[in-house]
Amino acid sequence: MDIKIWGCRGSIPAPIKPADVKQKIKEGIVDCLNTTQGGDDIESQVDNYLATADVAKTFGGNTTCLEVKAKGYNEATIEDKISYMFDCGSGLREAGLDMMSRGNFFGNGKVKVFLSHMHWDHINGFPFFVPAFIPGNKVIVYGSKTHEEALDLALKGQSEEQGIESVLTNGVASGAVDCLAQYALTVQQSAGLFPVKLKEMPSSIQFHYLENEEVVENGVRVESKYFGDRTPEYNFKTGEGLVPRHKEGIFSYKVIEDGKSFVYATDIELDQPTKKGSVDTEYLAWIKGVDVLYADAQYTPEEYNPAEHGKQGMAKIGWGHSTYETIIDYAKEAGVKKLLLGHHEPTRNDKGLIELHKRATEYAKQGGYEGKVEMAFEGMNVTL
Ligand SMILES: [Zn+2]
Ligand SMILES: [Zn+2]
Repeated sequence: MDIKIWGCRGSIPAPIKPADVKQKIKEGIVDCLNTTQGGDDIESQVDNYLATADVAKTFGGNTTCLEVKAKGYNEATIEDKISYMFDCGSGLREAGLDMMSRGNFFGNGKVKVFLSHMHWDHINGFPFFVPAFIPGNKVIVYGSKTHEEALDLALKGQSEEQGIESVLTNGVASGAVDCLAQYALTVQQSAGLFPVKLKEMPSSIQFHYLENEEVVENGVRVESKYFGDRTPEYNFKTGEGLVPRHKEGIFSYKVIEDGKSFVYATDIELDQPTKKGSVDTEYLAWIKGVDVLYADAQYTPEEYNPAEHGKQGMAKIGWGHSTYETIIDYAKEAGVKKLLLGHHEPTRNDKGLIELHKRATEYAKQGGYEGKVEMAFEGMNVTL
């Protein structure tokens, strides 16, 4: 399979800042002048310098969106060319444009979208997804059946139209739709919030709700796993109990093809396994031995728990994201072969992310993790 990262920023899009651009140019020029020899071939020397220079790297500002294509995608018939998308963050806009350039989304393209949850950074690209505006294309959205309050209060017997209207009037607590993904995407494109309603998008958009189950197609298996809160619940005052994995729960997905596996596990907060009695055995079993794990490593340990590191600042415990150390500990324990760190903190610039990667690599080395630790970046391709 081929995995492509279209967005890996956490929480909110974070475009590069003008001051950072200026700083990069300055550093690049100074550095380059110190390493190039001058002469006629200056352009190729600059190209060589830029090919490896840290200053030329950028991780991108778009929120989460990954695409998986099965082996043989290029040679497959149009019916079998399926893009498996994981989340619809703002990176989906670029993905959609790229799909159009592939030429097979002019009326007979097929996309399967797997949503981890409905927080806005994971759905905000959908209204800008060009293939969804082309009649005949099929967009199949898989997401959580609903979260509990919506499920419990589901207003059975209403038409979809009435149900959605009722949710728009009364909020999700009315539970008037039986698929949270449909609710979230509908609300996002409701009158006053976006000019085109979801139901006005000309492609065929279908919703499927998931519990833990599998979707199998053309030799590709996509398994889903729901991670809810754990007990005992975390007590924010005493620090006792287990941190909530993510507010209102989260789906993780595993793609398997030809015995190779990729797990997409974003927005999951885990206690460090070194913390007594807190190992998340369910998560550990889920990622056991996988070839590639895309995981949320938004924080450094000092950002997550400043007091524990003798620092002042607002702790991020309970915010739904993990530290790179925690993720590396789990990857080691589970024998993950390659780790992609993602859901990057929006306040961290390229320099900060390169620094985080250095720290993560060092931590992995010292801890004896034998897999590879890489930073996800926009445009990254991983072939399995
Ligand atoms: Zn998120
Ligand atoms: Zn979230």
